[in-house]
Amino acid sequence: MINRYTVIGNPIAHSLSPPIHELFGELTQRRIAYDRTEATAETFPDVVRRWQAEGGRGCNVTMPFKELALEVCDRLSPAAERAGSVNTILMHRDGRLVGHTTDGTGLLTDIERNLRRPLADRRVLLVGAGGAARAVVEPLLGAGPAALHVVNRTEERALALAEAFAGDGPISASGTASLAAEAPFDIVVNATGASLAGESLALPDTLFAPGALAYDMAYAPGDTLFTAWARERGADVADGFGMLVEQAADAFAVWEGVRPKTRMAWGRLRALRDSADSARRET
Ligand code: NDP
Repeated sequence: MINRYTVIGNPIAHSLSPPIHELFGELTQRRIAYDRTEATAETFPDVVRRWQAEGGRGCNVTMPFKELALEVCDRLSPAAERAGSVNTILMHRDGRLVGHTTDGTGLLTDIERNLRRPLADRRVLLVGAGGAARAVVEPLLGAGPAALHVVNRTEERALALAEAFAGDGPISASGTASLAAEAPFDIVVNATGASLAGESLALPDTLFAPGALAYDMAYAPGDTLFTAWARERGADVADGFGMLVEQAADAFAVWEGVRPKTRMAWGRLRALRDSADSARRET
């Protein structure tokens, strides 16, 4: 039997999730098929239920439906509940929909294992206070940083996020204007949508400690605006493709009970990305 999955989002045509999951099926010798499904805010609940009624075993949920997906699920994992977002739904045969989030663990695996940057005792800056930022706060604090500072263009959202996780570890927050007063950071994670919108962030030049890592959750062919800016200021840089891969591997494990060994497949994963980049340039 083939287990069927899809990713639901809008826009969705360029999603790399189908080829990534098909590769995972091959690596783990599981027979799966993986589709792309477009929805609107109005149709999203029906689209999820229809996928289940047609025999779907699960789905991924991407922008802009991760918060909406909370309401569609019958039960949430503790991590999804804390994060306030769902990116993976497991469809049980008895009809129950269970919502999970794997964005935070995906980010952590990419930074700590793939990029070899342990977060323990490091000063970490999280830029942004939207859905993606909220989804990664608990796992970031769980890694034991010396400090996790949240900065956001709209200061109140950063303060509210820090307040919500105050019991989980050394978290603080501010608006962008007071960031220059903070000591430099070892790891800076950009969780804003600015890079993809072609907008630069108003961050101080003194942000990075020597040897710092600047990580952009967004990914694009070549540098993003943020990684280009950080590179010029001496930071090592990475974009969010590794996070995309690792959150997908965690989603695959939720559905299929086995986590693909992503480390064994980086050559092929990079080739997938390169062919998607060149297809985009042609369209
Ligand atoms: P949201 O719309 O929920 O949040 C957007 C955030 O970005 C807010 O904090 C907003 O600030 C800030 N922002 C937007 N534009 C600017 C700007 N010009 N200057 C400063 N701040 C800005 O988006 P998400 O949280 O869902 O997603 C954020 C990013 O993370 C996207 O690029 C997405 O692609 C990426 N992502 C990547 C994943 C991966 O697997 N690699 C997984 C999930 C997300 P304000 O509050 O002031 O409006």
